[in-house]
Amino acid sequence: MAVHPHIVIIGGGFTGTALAIHLGRQGRLAGDVTVIEPRAMLGCGVAYSTRDPAHRINVPADKMQLSAAEEGDFDRWCRAGDELTRDPEALWRDGSLYPQRGAFGRYIAERFSETAAASRLNLHHLRDRAISLQPVPGGAIVTTAGGVRIHADAMVLAISHPPPALPSQISQAVGQHPALIANPWQDNALAAIGTWDELVIIGTGLTMADVAASLQLRGHRGRITAFSRRGLLPRPNVTGDYPSWPVEPPLAAPETVRRWLRRIRRTVVAAADAGVPWQKVIDDVRANGQTLWQRLPPVEQRRFLRHLRPYWDVHRYRIAPQVSALLRQRRDNGTLRVLAARLDKIAGGEKDLTLQLALRQGGAERVAAQKVIISTGPAHGSLINSLPLLRALAGQGLIVADPLGLGLWVNADSQAIGSDGLADPRLLVAGPAARGRFGELIGLPQVAEHAQALATQLLALLTSPALDGRCPLSRR
Ligand SMILES: Cc1cc2nc3c(=O)[nH]c(=O)nc-3n(C[C@H](O)[C@H](O)[C@H](O)COP(=O)(O)OP(=O)(O)OC[C@H]3O[C@@H](n4cnc5c(N)ncnc54)[C@H](O)[C@@H]3O)c2cc1C
Repeated sequence: MAVHPHIVIIGGGFTGTALAIHLGRQGRLAGDVTVIEPRAMLGCGVAYSTRDPAHRINVPADKMQLSAAEEGDFDRWCRAGDELTRDPEALWRDGSLYPQRGAFGRYIAERFSETAAASRLNLHHLRDRAISLQPVPGGAIVTTAGGVRIHADAMVLAISHPPPALPSQISQAVGQHPALIANPWQDNALAAIGTWDELVIIGTGLTMADVAASLQLRGHRGRITAFSRRGLLPRPNVTGDYPSWPVEPPLAAPETVRRWLRRIRRTVVAAADAGVPWQKVIDDVRANGQTLWQRLPPVEQRRFLRHLRPYWDVHRYRIAPQVSALLRQRRDNGTLRVLAARLDKIAGGEKDLTLQLALRQGGAERVAAQKVIISTGPAHGSLINSLPLLRALAGQGLIVADPLGLGLWVNADSQAIGSDGLADPRLLVAGPAARGRFGELIGLPQVAEHAQALATQLLALLTSPALDGRCPLSRR
């Protein structure tokens, strides 16, 4: 058993901060928890650090919580404070709230401060960036860019969303062109866009919806062409009160994707006959997503990723009704068209870019644009390469990518699996980076549950006599 253990959480977005809060709340242990996070505020990460008022959470506020027992807490926090005065449009006509994403970050940061003030554990935010992890007996030394060295008894990697990647075809042809906006998440990325600029958005998912909403708020009125291979748009969230509608009980393993799809379709038809929208069926599939995923043999998991994922994504990741209404309005007035196409060629003029698109239904189209915005979302497939720390850990053999290329490979206890195939009980992976193993692990409820489970697991690990003398990190 570690005396006064020190847990280091690398990454203080939602996942790392939720984990620290759950550790702090369990209060059985005296020790330290340091969350290393370069951003000024904990709890925000990539999703909730946006200050753009057009970026809204994509599920009602009463579904965004730190644990199942707290359902509705964020909604109550918004209504009790001044969120609705600041942002009256958050209130949708069915009475539910879809606040700006930054509000959720502030809510989590507040819960962290409250927990830190009350906990037996010392919870700290170290505003810095971890750059290396050196195994030593009983743990590792974590070093930061600012030169701080911490002896950690256990470490958690809570880094999920790398920046979008520029397709090589584009970076080779026009990578430095001023009309190219490679990362729309950067502050002021859209500032140089003029009111009547003609735009092309590459990607038609949630990032495209964010970009279109921001452009509308900034007064952009020009034409937008958005395209992706299938041209699928994220669907709106259901508004109104409907009963949940479970898919009939799963069959015995092993399952196939095809059988599941058939079953979901049948259930959607039955729900529709009863006046219940498809969203309630998909919500049920999502709630059981981890069990379903783990029941699929690897060949079926690959089949799902290759054929079904784009369709699953647009039904499962939805958009706030405010954003959905805006997209509909722009499509109706002809300022937004969505194409199923792939990029054939791109060339730069003095000020603009011309794209040659191969349309999915056949034929080609040329589109000229004053700005081209890459909106393909986080480049999860290159998570390890996106950060020097992760590259270094991979070089040391402490982590490897999962076989499906979704993040980092872990065992069923979220312990990182190294290049020797062994899992390390002192090095855990929290949140979406572990979804190659677990399946559905990106949306808030599942990530919050994962953080809560890891808190319990870490406390058990650090109070276990079995850990004494074990030093798997230094086995390599
Ligand atoms: C744009 C977007 C919008 C979303 N909207 C919703 C929504 O409305 N509803 C919903 O349910 N889900 C939503 N999600 C999904 C969900 O909330 C996220 O999956 C979740 O926030 C995961 O966050 P994270 O903390 O694991 O990762 P990240 O957000 O990636 O945070 C990781 C943190 O690690 C830090 N970091 C990186 N490198 C280092 C280092 N070397 N040392 C220390 N720190 C480091 C980064 O600064 C970052 O803050 C959204 C996701 C995205 C990307």
